[in-house]
Amino acid sequence: MRIVVLAGGIGGARFLVGVRAYAREVGAEVTAVVNVGDDASMHGLRICPDLDSVMYTLGNGADPERGWGRVGETWTVKGELAAYGAEPTWFGLGDKDIATHLVRSTMLTAGYPLSAVTEALCDRWQPGVRLLPASDDRLETHAVVQLDGEQKAIHFQEWWVRHRGELPTERFVFVGAESAKPAPGVLDALAAADVVLVAPSNPVVSIAPILAVPGLREAVAAASAPVIGFSPIIGGAPVRGMADKCLAIVGAECTAAGVGRLYGPDLLDGWLVDTTDEGADVPGVEVRAIPLWMTDERATAAMVGAAMELDLAASRPPAPKRGQP
Ligand code: GDP
Ligand code: CA
Repeated sequence: MRIVVLAGGIGGARFLVGVRAYAREVGAEVTAVVNVGDDASMHGLRICPDLDSVMYTLGNGADPERGWGRVGETWTVKGELAAYGAEPTWFGLGDKDIATHLVRSTMLTAGYPLSAVTEALCDRWQPGVRLLPASDDRLETHAVVQLDGEQKAIHFQEWWVRHRGELPTERFVFVGAESAKPAPGVLDALAAADVVLVAPSNPVVSIAPILAVPGLREAVAAASAPVIGFSPIIGGAPVRGMADKCLAIVGAECTAAGVGRLYGPDLLDGWLVDTTDEGADVPGVEVRAIPLWMTDERATAAMVGAAMELDLAASRPPAPKRGQP
């Protein structure tokens, strides 16, 4: 069996730990297509927060408390940069993490695409799943905000980390999306998938930028495999992070049903919500309530198992297939 997962950073990483456990039990292969919208260049380094969260978490090198960056991290370089007054000072770059960014930046400068760089980094981390960036091309999420009495577009990292998502925000734009191409392997993985899972990641700034790569949303919708999503919203609130702020900006309700409707029946066949949200209705999509707290690997693997048991035939006539006339 082949499982493809669309994933952001921390929520995506936790989810993938469970997908990997499930896959080991049943002998499945897992490909993760990871958001690159958060990627940024700082201090001359290329930083890929979501790919790194996934890689470190699956490679047992992530800080479990913070949820991002390396366990046992030190901050000497950050302190030195601050002593120079080198901007940005608001972004946490740990010493161990910087080594990753140095290797990545060196390879990118030498001409390797991000997908090849990611593969090389994974030689060390052995994540046990194939990690693919959604695109090798630059695709960056920016927030259009009111700042100092002016309308400005700022990078998502600045919006999120520096301003805590608190600026008056009109919308998000995925800069470069129009000309981005899916990374090598992404379309093939989707075409060969037996199931496509949408992780309980932030729908607006983790999953939407993946689907903004031209051809990618179409490939997910046209896949012969069922597409099953997991709600990141439980009982009307994100489990962690600022998905509530992001959903408000795109005019979506911050509920399990609201996120399901945002994806909609064009994308999803099945939608899993937490038992707290039993009764959530997403027209055209098979909804099931199960515990969605990713407390540990077993609980998360059980979520994946439940997705595989969804009775999609009940909600969707077998033919004609979506994406086809
Ligand atoms: P980021 O890129 O680091 O922000 O991470 P993601 O976008 O992949 O994941 C963030 C989302 O994960 C948030 O909206 C959280 O609500 C969701 N999340 C985190 N932990 C859990 C959990 O245990 N269960 C569910 N259902 N969602 C979770
Ligand atoms: Ca992210």
